[in-house]
Amino acid sequence: MKCPFCSANDDRVVDSRESRDGATIRRRRECLECGRRFTSYEQIEAIPYLVVKTDGRREEFSRQKLLAGLMKACEKRPIAARQQEDIVEHLEQLLHRREEREISTHEIGTTVMEQLRDLDQVAYVRFASVYRKFEDIGSFVEEIQSLLGKSTEDPAGRGETQTDDDRAEHAE
Ligand SMILES: [Zn+2]
Repeated sequence: MKCPFCSANDDRVVDSRESRDGATIRRRRECLECGRRFTSYEQIEAIPYLVVKTDGRREEFSRQKLLAGLMKACEKRPIAARQQEDIVEHLEQLLHRREEREISTHEIGTTVMEQLRDLDQVAYVRFASVYRKFEDIGSFVEEIQSLLGKSTEDPAGRGETQTDDDRAEHAE
């Protein structure tokens, strides 16, 4: 780094310290030319991810917003806050791995629903009804039927049935 005193471009780092939240790294540097010390700050580049809505509009991806939607779907359901955060984290990791910084609402919905489906069917249907924006009652029924179809196709069908009964007892 260019020394602010003598403009030489030769220094050594004498100390590195990360800020408490891990977002900034502060480095003490010593100029090898004039021997004076100066400080540099290194910051993580904030990468905004965009959500592409069905009408083509873009809005910034919000972890908070997704978690809020998920929490609403999981209200009074036996899904721990930690599990809900895991779902959001899973989606974020998917996002970080991709080249383009965009994801469609449809893809977010599908990814989250895939995980909810295995956790809790009530939460799954609630979330699906918001994200899929079912155009009519017919498509909603179709979704439910595919969900039920998946249960009966399960080779461990009996276990699944028992789980369903158990869930019915706890339904609101
Ligand atoms: Zn210098």
